[in-house]
Amino acid sequence: MSRPRLHERVAALREQRAAQVRTRLRRTVTRRDGVRFEVDGHWLTGFCGNDYLGLAQQFAVVNALQDTASRDGAGGIASHLVCGHHAVHEALERELAEWLQAPRALLFGSGYLANLAVVQALLSDDEDVCVQDRLNHASLIDAARLAGCRLRRYPHADPEGALRQLRGVPDGAAMLVTDGVFSMDGDVAPLRELALVSRVQHATLYVDDAHGVGVLGPDGRGSVAAARLDFAAVPLQLVTLGKALGSYGAAVVGDASLIDHLAETARPYIYTTALPPAQAAASLAAVKLARKDQWRRDKLETLVGRFRNGAQQRGFELLPSDTPIQPLICGEDARALSLAAALEAQGFWVAAIRPPTVPEGRARLRITLSALHTPAEVDALVDALAWARDAVEQGYGAVA
Ligand SMILES: *Cc1c(COP(=O)(O)O)cnc(C)c1O
Repeated sequence: MSRPRLHERVAALREQRAAQVRTRLRRTVTRRDGVRFEVDGHWLTGFCGNDYLGLAQQFAVVNALQDTASRDGAGGIASHLVCGHHAVHEALERELAEWLQAPRALLFGSGYLANLAVVQALLSDDEDVCVQDRLNHASLIDAARLAGCRLRRYPHADPEGALRQLRGVPDGAAMLVTDGVFSMDGDVAPLRELALVSRVQHATLYVDDAHGVGVLGPDGRGSVAAARLDFAAVPLQLVTLGKALGSYGAAVVGDASLIDHLAETARPYIYTTALPPAQAAASLAAVKLARKDQWRRDKLETLVGRFRNGAQQRGFELLPSDTPIQPLICGEDARALSLAAALEAQGFWVAAIRPPTVPEGRARLRITLSALHTPAEVDALVDALAWARDAVEQGYGAVA
């Protein structure tokens, strides 16, 4: 028998990752106060979270969670189709549908699960095709694999490439799937062109707007609304509740019959426990604030502009992003790690993102801004970045 031993294989893979400096480590946060994190006994100013609007610790949001938890408890108790569907879930779905001007919304345990659900429930046949941007989120790639449909990828933000891929599979049912805002690059997908491609190719367009909703467009309605498209053009849109909304969970918003079908058939919807009502109550409070507090978006936009100006004046090359995701491409993994370490030494927490999360040779610092940052903190980050770059170039700041 030549069956490989899993323990041995895992040990070899771990050694290989260590040799490539690709071991993944978690840092433990002991306290969080807005964008300030206590880590290993030091307070750092974080430019790495996704709490873009500063809602995660907002008073009304936390209060809603506490009130509902004291009435209904901590857990979701059961799946939605059994006895876990609570009036708070219903109210949150209504609020999301109204906000995004679509007939229906359906809650999911997370964005990852929602993506699995959408593709798995709609593309079941091996003749079907899921056409995706090359830089789409990992959960979308996994979704196509789970569905068992064909997966075709096109070059980043290239509607012509999407058209070619769809033309290549003319007989299967088709979905065209893209991130609205690309999570590691911060740029926005060419949604109007992709909507046109979908229309001529009879493909259903699905936009994963994990980083767009709350931040972009009129009333923070996201990248689809910012592109002046509605649910007729984009029948399905993913909203995550754990990023700009500062809570946890996700929803798919859009066409009534597609969404009802998901609720009845999608395995990642049916076979999992409903979100705790308290968490849904926090999300509902956050959605109301996100709709109303335009000042959070205005402040965020000003900070993004301030960061870009400052970084460009210091000679940094930025990607074409107007969103709170502002990556600095470093190339080699080691350079990204050294820069992150040099920033930490100055009191800043910025994530170094390495392959396989980003393509080989495209390691980067993924800097994210929040409405909670002050202009002075943004300026200090830019100074620290310039110092870190000089230190790393002179060979200091090397990391183990
Ligand atoms: C974070 C993210 C998800 C997953 O959402 P979770 O609610 O965190 O599971 C999906 N798609 C994109 C583009 C994301 O950035």
